[in-house]
Amino acid sequence: MKVLVASRNAKKVAEMRRILAEHMTTVEVVGLDDVTPYDEPVEDQPTFEGNALLKARAGVAVTGLPTLADDSGLCVDALNGMPGVLSARWSGPPLSSKTGQDDRNNELLLAQLSDVPDERRTAYFTCAVALVLPDGTTRVVDGRMDGRIIREVRGSGGFGYDVLFEADDRPGVTTAELTPDVKDEISHRGKALREIAPVVADLLR
Ligand code: IMP
Repeated sequence: MKVLVASRNAKKVAEMRRILAEHMTTVEVVGLDDVTPYDEPVEDQPTFEGNALLKARAGVAVTGLPTLADDSGLCVDALNGMPGVLSARWSGPPLSSKTGQDDRNNELLLAQLSDVPDERRTAYFTCAVALVLPDGTTRVVDGRMDGRIIREVRGSGGFGYDVLFEADDRPGVTTAELTPDVKDEISHRGKALREIAPVVADLLR
């Protein structure tokens, strides 16, 4: 049994492979780099669920494989939940350098929150994971990691807004200062993947 994770991020594909293996021994998890390239949909939906579904439906339509897809982002309370679905391109259209894009997003976020006091700097990461089967069966789950935005970047691990985010579960360090294992344990994506894995196993049995 093959399952497609509709992502080019090798770390996401590997994480799903590890988590699914705890629930099914017979599954082969492949990523977008392992299948014939196709036109990936533009993530233009107003919700994380909508974008995750869009990507999962495209994967199943082209490959005929049960497909998982995720969409995630940072929601800042003082910004009414933004950047939200715009997290990746908050400071403008994508740059060729992913780290350049992350740096620019982080600078903008810091500037926007410069006069927001500590007690109002709460935020959360959220992740929707959609599963679509060839027969149209669809499931969507969400994971969430609460925390706060600090005042200057710190840490060298992770990606995106990790250098500005302290999780409530690990106060005093940013998620860019956690080991990948610890981050997976408490992260929005880890939680969502762990919730969808037994669902995938049940539906494909
Ligand atoms: P994607 O769903 O992987 O495309 O992520 C969308 C954007 O949300 C990323 O480009 C990051 O800016 C942000 N984001 C999502 N998850 C994380 C995380 O775990 N740490 C830091 N930033 C994240």
